Amino acid sequence: MSKIYDVIIIGLGAMGSTAAYQLAKRGQRVLGLEQFGPAHDQGSSHGGSRIIRQSYFEDPAYVPLLLRAYELWDEIERESGEEILTVTGGLMMGPPDSLTVSGSIESAKQWNLAYEVLEANDIRRRFPLFNPSDNTLALYEAKAGFVRPELSVYSHLLQAEKHGADLRFFEAVQSWEAHPSGEGVRVVTANGTYEAGKIIISAGAWAPQLLNDLGVSLQVERHIQMFFEPTGGIEPFRVGKQPIYIWEAEDNVQLYGFPSSALGAEGAKVAFFRKGKPCTPDTIDRNVYDDEVEMMRNYLVQGIPKLNGRFLQGKTCMYTNTPDEHFVISAHPTHPQVTVAAGFSGHGFKFASVVGEVLADLVINGQTNHPIDLFCPQRFVHQ
Ligand SMILES: Cc1cc2nc3c(=O)[nH]c(=O)nc-3n(C[C@H](O)[C@H](O)[C@H](O)COP(=O)(O)OP(=O)(O)OC[C@H]3O[C@@H](n4cnc5c(N)ncnc54)[C@H](O)[C@@H]3O)c2cc1C
Repeated sequence: MSKIYDVIIIGLGAMGSTAAYQLAKRGQRVLGLEQFGPAHDQGSSHGGSRIIRQSYFEDPAYVPLLLRAYELWDEIERESGEEILTVTGGLMMGPPDSLTVSGSIESAKQWNLAYEVLEANDIRRRFPLFNPSDNTLALYEAKAGFVRPELSVYSHLLQAEKHGADLRFFEAVQSWEAHPSGEGVRVVTANGTYEAGKIIISAGAWAPQLLNDLGVSLQVERHIQMFFEPTGGIEPFRVGKQPIYIWEAEDNVQLYGFPSSALGAEGAKVAFFRKGKPCTPDTIDRNVYDDEVEMMRNYLVQGIPKLNGRFLQGKTCMYTNTPDEHFVISAHPTHPQVTVAAGFSGHGFKFASVVGEVLADLVINGQTNHPIDLFCPQRFVHQ
């Protein structure tokens, strides 16, 4: 006789792993299905580091979720004994009227978050690695830092298993079917067919294939995480000396980066926030080309000259974008027993801990007290 599950999770990456943990902890019988191994590097959740910050220029509506996310990062750290989140301080820099600066200040004000505003001279004095133009302003947030994506996924999966979740790797879901009554689902893999009351679809860049009736356009993009060896040594780039940063240049291009020990190797990571090339998980070109590295150097040479040393490594990664770059976290519009977590649009990781809690609320209670109106898929219906 086959096992009985309350909920099947399709995809055990950033969001699927936290959902598995939260659901198993609340006593749900969980089956998790993942096409690759635990904490792999083929999707959106690898490369050693992800920025976390509270003053949120994308929309102040994210702030309460962020405050809860910090608490839950703390909880998984205590439960797993791992340091997943490192607070290093963060600079959101750019021209005063740029979204990065003005949006961050607005959300910090609205939610009464602690922050400082630094002028170009202050930035140069306090953080000498940066060479901003005189027109630059920064919001400095002491609580910003980074989370370690592989360690997060791995730790949540391990704890989920300890709470009784049945997690299966190298088992791709081929199709799913929701019973028209609104109750019950069937999921098919090469190894068999599984049934449960509910499913969560948290398939990252593969979501478009599994959710073609969601009514939301999900566009996958190729992005590159680049690692450079600083000229003049790594010391000034270490955690504690260098904050994380998001830097909007005069041409509105945003780049962002991390201190060095975020990776654990002798290099510091930097990337463009947006500017990815459209792709699919099947067509993504995993090579990184000289002209792409040169494009980054054009910004480093002026702004962070000491980072413009030897190119060490480039690692591709996928964003899955919605048209407005806000997430989709909701019951499926036509199948109430299907919960969707998709379209994290290049800024989802920092929320993974709280997204797991939201998904568990939605699966168990059909609703959540967290503010997720912004993530409703029906927002695109009348556009
Ligand atoms: C270069 C880069 C930089 C980023 N920087 C930041 C940052 O600084 N801060 C931040 O907050 N966010 C950042 N993000 C975004 C963040 O990492 C993503 O939003 C987040 O990882 C998305 O998580 P996910 O669970 O949707 O996808 P994933 O973690 O990729 O998980 C999806 C999982 O589903 C599995 N799957 C898919 N289809 C199937 C199937 N049919 N059967 C079984 N398994 C399946 C996949 O194998 C995968 O493991 C960045 C992303 C990239 C690429």
